[in-house]
Amino acid sequence: MIPPKIIILGAGYAGLTAALTFQKKLRTKEAEVTLVNKNEYHYFTTRLHEPAAGTFPHDKTRVDIKRLINRKKVQLIQDNVVEIRTSDRVVVLENHTLAYDYLIVGLGAEPETFGIPGLMEYTFNRWNINGVRQLREYIEYQFATYKNDPKRTELLTFVVGGAGLTGIEFVSELADRVPKLCKEYDVDTSLVRLITVESAPVALPGFDPGLRNYATSALEAKGVEFILGTPIKACNKHGVVLASGKEIRAGTVVWAAGVRGNSIIEKSGFTTTRGRVPVDGYLRAPGHENVFIIGDCALFTDQRTKRPYPPTAQIAVQMGKLLAENIVVTIRGTKHKRKPFKPVIYGTVASLGREDAIGQFGKKRVTGYPAVIIKKAVDLRYLFAIGGIRLVLKKGRF
Ligand SMILES: Cc1cc2nc3c(=O)[nH]c(=O)nc-3n(C[C@H](O)[C@H](O)[C@H](O)COP(=O)(O)OP(=O)(O)OC[C@H]3O[C@@H](n4cnc5c(N)ncnc54)[C@H](O)[C@@H]3O)c2cc1C
Repeated sequence: MIPPKIIILGAGYAGLTAALTFQKKLRTKEAEVTLVNKNEYHYFTTRLHEPAAGTFPHDKTRVDIKRLINRKKVQLIQDNVVEIRTSDRVVVLENHTLAYDYLIVGLGAEPETFGIPGLMEYTFNRWNINGVRQLREYIEYQFATYKNDPKRTELLTFVVGGAGLTGIEFVSELADRVPKLCKEYDVDTSLVRLITVESAPVALPGFDPGLRNYATSALEAKGVEFILGTPIKACNKHGVVLASGKEIRAGTVVWAAGVRGNSIIEKSGFTTTRGRVPVDGYLRAPGHENVFIIGDCALFTDQRTKRPYPPTAQIAVQMGKLLAENIVVTIRGTKHKRKPFKPVIYGTVASLGREDAIGQFGKKRVTGYPAVIIKKAVDLRYLFAIGGIRLVLKKGRF
């Protein structure tokens, strides 16, 4: 019998976990698994705020995929996905066309612009390795440029759009780095402004009020200003314009206020809501028995609350693992053993810089150093799961 072809698009949290689960569960020649990714490396998106602010080397937040996979079991193709043609059961890449029997789409997210003019052109909004490398360099460049042109104090103003997890974790790291940058470039710290702008009335809306207050007070103490309940109306080369009409002149604007599913999915004709495909309990795209969407591209609704789960790494990993297990039992002719997806939400931790964090686990609340330790433990656990102790020692932040 010809082994079925399983194609996985994207080696992020969801796609890589699926590939590693196939590698573990499939017997030789049971299926041909191909993992397609635009880079030769997998990156830890949940830690990108650190290299973005320059507090941690970017190389520590990525790992060569070849070091994680067994190429006898999973073939890796480094290429860009261009289109998915479900009618022909093929995926078009820049340099290849691949036929599939089972297709798993885990292409991650893109920035949600909410139609704000100038957002894509004038903000840093790419949360990937090259995006954060560029941002880190740009931050330093602003300090250096200011020293050559000290009238332009706006170069030392940094606006962060969004006070969710990504925005808060980034601004916290930047707040930690500012004193060092000021020392390095001989800049008076009082000239640097870090401003977080958020359209919702509160920061970190996923956390309870006590933890939200803890986080905002901790960040205000580090010099971060908050403008809440005020959307950004436009971005331009001078900075941002708020819905209130106020303009903030800023040398750097970082966008961390929302994501949508990868645009390739929409372009390929799938039904989407904000670029995400509403999947069923077996993570299938509507109308497609053998096309599965996982991670940030999937819109999975909590049947109890009727609200979609937010896109997170913990859900992406669980989706990748369960889906691969379900496909393995399907290939073995025991489809009845498939399990529907039921995410387990262990909790959420938000880092507030190197030495502070908040965490919410059911009814448990944690702040300060214990939360920092939990955050580190979560990261290390993921490294261990994908690459064992060697990866923990190589890439871990202790
Ligand atoms: C700064 C930051 C902090 C975060 N913190 C947390 C946190 O603490 N906890 C948490 O649970 N979640 C957190 N998240 C969210 C979490 O990172 C995402 O939900 C998670 O990365 C989604 O996994 P994914 O596999 O769907 O996508 P990704 O991990 O983004 O992977 C997508 C993959 O697809 C590849 N790809 C994309 N387009 C193409 C193409 N055209 N061709 C080929 N390959 C392509 C990419 O290169 C990438 O490897 C954070 C996000 C950010 C940005």
